[in-house]
Amino acid sequence: TASDPFDNAPNTDFSIPANRKWIAELVSDWKNRTFGIVPLQVDGVEATTEIVSDGHDPSRPGLKLYQYANGTPEHVESALSSAVQSQTAWEQLGTVKRAEILRNFAAVASQQRGDMIGVMMADAGKAVTESDAEISEAIDFAEYYSRSLDTAGWDDGTTSTPVGVVVVTPPWNFPYAIPAGGCLAALMAGNSVILKPAPETVFTAWHLACQLWEAGVPRDVLQFLPVEDGPVGQSLLSDPRVAVVVLTGAYATAQLFQSWRPELRLYAETSGKNSMIISSAADLDLAVKDLVRGAFGHAGQKCSATSLAIVQRDVYESPQFRNQLRDAAASLHVASAWDLSVDVTPIIRPPHDELQRGLTQLDEGEEWLLEPQMLEGNPCLWSPGIRLGVKPGSWYHRTECFGPVLGIIPVDTFEEAIQIQNNSEFGLTGGLYSLDVTEIETWRSKVEVGNGYINRTTTGAIVQRQPFGGWKNSSVGPGAKAGGPNYVAAFRNWTQVALPA
Ligand code: GLU
Repeated sequence: TASDPFDNAPNTDFSIPANRKWIAELVSDWKNRTFGIVPLQVDGVEATTEIVSDGHDPSRPGLKLYQYANGTPEHVESALSSAVQSQTAWEQLGTVKRAEILRNFAAVASQQRGDMIGVMMADAGKAVTESDAEISEAIDFAEYYSRSLDTAGWDDGTTSTPVGVVVVTPPWNFPYAIPAGGCLAALMAGNSVILKPAPETVFTAWHLACQLWEAGVPRDVLQFLPVEDGPVGQSLLSDPRVAVVVLTGAYATAQLFQSWRPELRLYAETSGKNSMIISSAADLDLAVKDLVRGAFGHAGQKCSATSLAIVQRDVYESPQFRNQLRDAAASLHVASAWDLSVDVTPIIRPPHDELQRGLTQLDEGEEWLLEPQMLEGNPCLWSPGIRLGVKPGSWYHRTECFGPVLGIIPVDTFEEAIQIQNNSEFGLTGGLYSLDVTEIETWRSKVEVGNGYINRTTTGAIVQRQPFGGWKNSSVGPGAKAGGPNYVAAFRNWTQVALPA
């Protein structure tokens, strides 16, 4: 029930030999698989179309892993009318039954953990440990959201109804946990959902949809509809029958959706340009370890990634810090996701313009502490880069690159560090490394980010403990945080009725 205690699902413990054996077998099995056509599924019916796109494994460019069918305008129309139709019965099923279905999903996800790791390694080039953590997060979303429409204790005058039809448009960087979170929250609140997967990771989203159906979500309540960017995508996202669009993606994409339909109710978690302050009072061993993890984990392709360090000058100039940071980054094993000892996996596709610039061009006053290299002739595989001497307000300070690059800004004072950290159009995550209590208190009261971390990496928010979502242009909409107490409620409309006293 809603009052059962919530516990986070544990990740797989790979220090246990049996688990290492299990994963090694799983990897060698999945590595050699290729797949057929991923169908779409609208109005409860599977279909394929002539508009077929290819799915790739970033670890093995050139290899066609699968194909998937994109929806036509007729599929969009059919999905929307089916979503409107099916929503009432889903709401009438009631909170308790829907919560049960969410828990069923948690059980299915847990049983199929191994196969989903294989799917994400192939589809997104995600390392085993990163894929494993996504599954834990999806289970957490299901368990947590299943408990989060408990209105006991609310006044009798409070009623609520589902918003209606929700379209979930997830990113490719968390191809499983993020779409799971959006779908589960909207479903728990009694809405029907159209899942429009990210074009890069359709295969993962398809498996997620299959798990939701297996858990008991009716096929017309959750529909699966890949659509191409362009007019068909636009017609789905701007249709007035859609009550809410859930987006995780670039801020520019959120603006585009809004330009298509200004009255759109958009719940978006958007870009970040996240920094970690390293004060003169930091424990440098720990700071370097977490900086490297936050900057280069999943090849820097997280909205939460640490892409800047703002470092006090005595530390910045010290050979100890520079050598330690350079050596730590240079020692990371850059390889295919199929290599079990990998630290830095491939990026999802060859670098886009901004990432290309971030990986190859310096601005005035900058130098490489570690220059990135393309490896193994794979345009998706890049070793980590560290830029020294980044200036406040410069291109790199302002631009989200979404890849394995870290820039360092030297500062003279702690106050200046906070000022530069806050001087950003974004405010997603941010960190401080310091052992000075006064600095920690000052920083807590001043930092302008949705998720702040003290002496801890800026990535890897955990459901309930660190509800996730940012300020400024890192968020569009009501700002309810994913994995937090208000998130499911944001998918209902609330009415408070009062009679005269
Ligand atoms: N929630 C993830 C984290 O804390 C980031 C999600 C994202 O990249 O959108 O690392």
